[in-house]
Amino acid sequence: MRVLPRQRAAALAAGAELLAYGRELGEQAAAQAGGAFTDLAPADALIKQSPEAFLLGVLFTQGIPAERAWAGPYLLQQRVGTLDPRRLACMSEEVAAAVAGPPALHRFVRTLPGWIVSAARRLRDEYSGSASRIWPPGASVSEVRERLLAFEGIGEKKSAMAVEILVRHFGVPLVGLECGTVAYDVHVRRVFLRTGLVDVDTPTALAEAACAVCPEAPGTLDLAAWLVGRDWCRPRSPLCDQCRLGGVCLRLVERSATGVGVRRA
Ligand code: SF4
Repeated sequence: MRVLPRQRAAALAAGAELLAYGRELGEQAAAQAGGAFTDLAPADALIKQSPEAFLLGVLFTQGIPAERAWAGPYLLQQRVGTLDPRRLACMSEEVAAAVAGPPALHRFVRTLPGWIVSAARRLRDEYSGSASRIWPPGASVSEVRERLLAFEGIGEKKSAMAVEILVRHFGVPLVGLECGTVAYDVHVRRVFLRTGLVDVDTPTALAEAACAVCPEAPGTLDLAAWLVGRDWCRPRSPLCDQCRLGGVCLRLVERSATGVGVRRA
């Protein structure tokens, strides 16, 4: 596809607005001690207080609404009585039963328990039971992403998201933010496609577009794009006139992110 200069300029304007939104969200998160992950207050507190709960929350964030996912570690703790990795590592049956419910804590009742127990064993064996040792102060974004990727149930998308949350919400002083990126998430992809920031729906295209907008910290766009996609840029009937990007966006609403690759209606 040939990209016209005017279209490129409009896409970059949308990128600049997305970046401004991302920076605002970062400031809000810092001012609000991390912001809100879930509506369940004790679950929200646990995510912020316990690195192990945060890591398990990352495992939960797949295929269900984010607010429900981040409540998962707290509800799991309520059912099995602990989130101590040394104990969880030996509780395969209890974790499976707890996730299965009823009510189920997740839609992936077969795979999630295995990820949880596997993560607990890795934490016990490699990090002395402490998830914060995965992201010590001064570690690089690349190092932390590599360590997260070693956990079952954490791929590129979740590792990118986790690093951005650690930096933005928890203020973990990681270095090498230029190596951060946006998660290859369906909401993020849809926004990048419809604003014209990308014309092809691939992880590489999204990463390069984010780098072009903010080379020093491309991941700054991650939460902003995710929220725009969730709140306004819906798959059907996007709310362009209410959207944060409405004044600058190309509104290529015929574009959708489905599975892998771009579909144009
Ligand atoms: S909702 Fe409309 S204005 Fe907002 S990003 Fe999507 S297409 Fe653009």
